[in-house]
Amino acid sequence: MTDLPADGQLIEAVPTAYSGTTFRSRLEADWARTLDTQSIRWQYEPEQITLPSGVHYLPDFWLPEIGTWLEVKGPATPRKEKAVELGKARACRCDGPCACAWPGGEMVLLGWVAERTHGDINVARSRSGYASWAAAHGPSAYFALCPWCGLSQWITLRRPWKCRACRRGLESEELYQPHDRVLHFGSGSGWSPADTVAIRREIADQMAEAEAADSEDLRWEDLYEE
Ligand SMILES: [Zn+2]
Ligand SMILES: [Zn+2]
Repeated sequence: MTDLPADGQLIEAVPTAYSGTTFRSRLEADWARTLDTQSIRWQYEPEQITLPSGVHYLPDFWLPEIGTWLEVKGPATPRKEKAVELGKARACRCDGPCACAWPGGEMVLLGWVAERTHGDINVARSRSGYASWAAAHGPSAYFALCPWCGLSQWITLRRPWKCRACRRGLESEELYQPHDRVLHFGSGSGWSPADTVAIRREIADQMAEAEAADSEDLRWEDLYEE
């Protein structure tokens, strides 16, 4: 099976079995392994979704306990427009207190493998790397551990900060960003040097978008507090 990356180069995705599931690629299997290390329950490609635009979208993972979709990004994965559209469609639109099944609505997360260090020649290496992430739509996502129900999860800084599973407060908990390197990426796949250019480009794109989303969110907070 092959995917067509943005630069038109064909990269073969190797079907990989893990935990009773056959994944399209080793990268996806490694994400499942990584989720397992955090005891985050996952379902692989459980549902094909018809987006508001009419386009069909098969997200990689649904994390049922924390109401989160995870789209794995790598050098061979398609562009992220579908994940962004899903994120917009499933975000909270409640007037007043959020009555969504999960606080803030369903989250759509883009996940990739981070560089070990910023800049320079150091490249993404899943064996020794860390998982990285960004919300596909809306403010930045932070990784947190709920002390009440014990579930690891991603939340945004849109207040109130609540556990997505048990809805109890996470106001006094540590929140982590990708550069805090808290989420070890499960080993198993290896990158070729050719992959790293595409990955670095993706990381730069994601960081720029996350920053743009953050500043937009700050403006909202200003409005809210005045
Ligand atoms: Zn809501
Ligand atoms: Zn909880």
